[in-house]
Amino acid sequence: MNSLNFEPNPEIHIEVKYLKRARRLTIRVLGSRTVRVTAPVRTKISEIQNMLNVHSDWILKKYKMIEDHPVQNKIKFITGEVLPFYGEQLILKIIDGKGSITRFENELIVPVPPKITAIDTDAITEKYIQKLLIKWYQAEALEKIKSRVQFFTERLNVSAKKISLKNYKSRWGACSSKGDLIFNWQIVAFEKHLFDYVVAHEVCHLKEMNHSQKFYGWLQVLGFRKSEIHKQMKNVRNLF
Ligand SMILES: [Zn+2]
Repeated sequence: MNSLNFEPNPEIHIEVKYLKRARRLTIRVLGSRTVRVTAPVRTKISEIQNMLNVHSDWILKKYKMIEDHPVQNKIKFITGEVLPFYGEQLILKIIDGKGSITRFENELIVPVPPKITAIDTDAITEKYIQKLLIKWYQAEALEKIKSRVQFFTERLNVSAKKISLKNYKSRWGACSSKGDLIFNWQIVAFEKHLFDYVVAHEVCHLKEMNHSQKFYGWLQVLGFRKSEIHKQMKNVRNLF
């Protein structure tokens, strides 16, 4: 419980995360009506409230941008477009430049060399941006998958041999009889708990190579109930 509120728009929920490693207060607009404040431990509520008041215009602007650009089925690869990423909504920003994508707060900054836009057909630019985005999503996916595999394998006292990514059209993961785990990298676009579910599911196969009662028992140990999670997984799909 905290007594924080955001007066300019009471619909916005303020979530505070106290982190030992945080050096200062940071604000992030997450979409789904949530603003997350990260704060060093022992930060006073009044300090956080003050920070929210000072930055209220910026928060409202970001919030509106996210609300006005709900996630589309078909990506258009244009500035202002919103892409889901690990429970967040990232905003694309296409700029002149070269190199790889960088992230700044909620923005994914995508450099496109002027010579690409010069020979344009839109299709070439789109392809170029898509390639960069896929590379970025894959790198993030691998890092996050590895860390969650470690978390879940430790809890079940099992170990995975090899972790790799694959382009799957309509599946999210697999576990080989040798104990290799394979994941569709696009799960990193899911909400966090659905991403976690896919990882936990494959980790449970290191215990049980089937979908028996026992298997779902292990999933429950990791915090996932079969009936609930199956319902939620019906709505997920590949982003790209
Ligand atoms: Zn399975």
